[in-house]
Amino acid sequence: MKYDVVIVGGGLLGQFAALELLSRGYRVAIVERDILCSGSCSKSTGIMTRQLVLRADIIFAQRSIDIITKMEKEYGEHFLRRTGFLTLSPISRVTKRLELIYRSVGVEYKLLEPHEIKELWETVIVGDNEIGIYTEGDGMLNTGSLSYRIKKEIERSGGSILERCGETSLIADGKYVVRVISDNDECSLYGDLFILDVGVDTASIFTRSFGRTPEPEQLLFKCQSASVDLGGEYGIPIIYDGKNHLYIAPETKRRAIVGDGPCKIARDQNDIAPDREILIETLDKLPERLAGSERSHIIGITSHVCGTTPDFLPVIGRDSVYENLYIAYGLSSYGTMRSPYLGVEIAKMVNGSKIDPLLKILSPRSSKGLGTCEEIHTPII
Ligand SMILES: Cc1cc2nc3c(=O)[nH]c(=O)nc-3n(C[C@H](O)[C@H](O)[C@H](O)COP(=O)(O)OP(=O)(O)OC[C@H]3O[C@@H](n4cnc5c(N)ncnc54)[C@H](O)[C@@H]3O)c2cc1C
Repeated sequence: MKYDVVIVGGGLLGQFAALELLSRGYRVAIVERDILCSGSCSKSTGIMTRQLVLRADIIFAQRSIDIITKMEKEYGEHFLRRTGFLTLSPISRVTKRLELIYRSVGVEYKLLEPHEIKELWETVIVGDNEIGIYTEGDGMLNTGSLSYRIKKEIERSGGSILERCGETSLIADGKYVVRVISDNDECSLYGDLFILDVGVDTASIFTRSFGRTPEPEQLLFKCQSASVDLGGEYGIPIIYDGKNHLYIAPETKRRAIVGDGPCKIARDQNDIAPDREILIETLDKLPERLAGSERSHIIGITSHVCGTTPDFLPVIGRDSVYENLYIAYGLSSYGTMRSPYLGVEIAKMVNGSKIDPLLKILSPRSSKGLGTCEEIHTPII
């Protein structure tokens, strides 16, 4: 069977790319090792916030929220729980630069004084020398229900979703990729164009297929979070604690997902076991932000690997050797919030249409810098 576009990897980015290509009339197949959204996508806390460091990332997250909002209207379903996102930071760190970026991008935000924060969320502990930045439209994406809806839409539009394919490799002939081969023969397909985004496995499939590593190199670090019973009822937004580098994302009034803090380089993509010391160190800081939370206890741990690059920017673009291969990796721990927009943009690249000029900074490039995982997945300002 031959397709116009074969997408290897059924994470959110691959799924959004498939939807966009189908709407442009392409015959599309997704080849997925397990089931759609079973990689990092299923582990994600789902936080979507515009409170990020880079102007480009703020825009990617904003556009992704726009895409989700449009889908919610179209399907009459809710995918993004708009809890709001509150960063608590020393006043000195709130720079004019951030305000300029927000104004230029059109992100609505509020600067909240300590007394205003205490009035809104009485259980939140805030210092007199701190300030809150509040973005009301941010929240938590339900990746499972979104992926389920997209799957239905892909099938309705005539796309093929091949799941439980096992390991997959790409086969090239000269300057073109011609087919994918998988453990499951039913997933071995020919195609004219290929998109490769298998999350943290991308570099290993690339190397296995082509005998060279992708540029820039893919670095891996542990991404983990704990589901916590807070020991009482709290009505809070997602809180990012700029002092202790942890986020508290409310699941219910009594439960929250807590994550971040120090981070650790992973040995390889199979190094998914949680690092309890890191989690415990992170959770120890919780009572500094939530009054009464010393009664909290962990009820579950989610751990996986996240992929980045030496310059911490994702890679989205056409491979430097194979002219019909488009590749994406290094979405780091911001992948859920970046994926809807970047999925649509990679589809536009494949189609040869005009793309967002900001994507230029994400083109394949040489590896520079050393790269550490310090502060990499903290939406600091
Ligand atoms: C604990 C945790 C919390 C996180 N929290 C957030 C958050 O709050 N906000 C946020 O924005 N991001 C968050 N992330 C990051 C986010 O989940 C990832 O950045 C994002 O899912 C990466 O998307 P992807 O499409 O590149 O990879 P994936 O989501 O992993 O998708 C890749 C797909 O490819 C498949 N695959 C793998 N190998 C093969 C193969 N050989 N052949 C075919 N298919 C294959 C996988 O099964 C998977 O379905 C979190 C991650 C973790 C682990």
